[in-house]
Amino acid sequence: MPKQIVLLGPPGAGKGTQAKILSKKLGIPHVSSGDIFRENLREKTPLGILAEGYINCGELVPDDVTVSMIQERLSRPDCEAGVLLDGFPRTAPQADALDRMLRKKNKGQVNAAPCIVVPNDVLIERLTGRRSCQNGHVFHIVFNPPKVEGICDVDGSELYQREDDTVETVSRRIRVYLEQTSPLIDYYRQQDVLIEIDGNQPIDMVAEAVYAAIAEL
Ligand code: AMP
Repeated sequence: MPKQIVLLGPPGAGKGTQAKILSKKLGIPHVSSGDIFRENLREKTPLGILAEGYINCGELVPDDVTVSMIQERLSRPDCEAGVLLDGFPRTAPQADALDRMLRKKNKGQVNAAPCIVVPNDVLIERLTGRRSCQNGHVFHIVFNPPKVEGICDVDGSELYQREDDTVETVSRRIRVYLEQTSPLIDYYRQQDVLIEIDGNQPIDMVAEAVYAAIAEL
């Protein structure tokens, strides 16, 4: 089973949701660059303060900063057996840096790159209705509403709208994805590890499709 996995797809495709399911099934850690940035932002670390402006306006944090953050995370022992990356790489230089990191650790190459495909209008609807709690549980005001409005079903904490989930910022994030990240689809296709998955179906069906496709590689 492939264990060096990169999950691709536009913002709102459901990468985070799928990554949580898949990492449990495969027994490898889920590493989300967006989650690490948000954690740093909450704790007001120097990295969080640096990243905040980029995140809130929907732009990418500079490559050198992002790459060293991921490098540090991948050097931890839990990534020895493999890793499921969500939100990284997002640019060609980041993809090159990841290849170098894996080679250096004798982990070969990325061996599966599922790309979750969802039409743009659906992405906008999903992102602008998304509400999260600070512990990473995610809801949607229409498609997956919490039992009590504004409160997380899992831990009872307050739900909030991510500052970058407003209509204007979402459009910019999708544009940034098309310009800077979507070229990676070809990059991984050329390496014969790309799997395209229809993300416009229920969560468990997407999860099954992703798992089956990875198992087949
Ligand atoms: P996400 O939660 O993956 O949608 O990421 C939220 C925001 O974090 C992005 O819009 C970027 O500002 C920043 N970010 C996350 N991952 C990366 C990355 N690989 N490269 C640059 N910026 C990133």
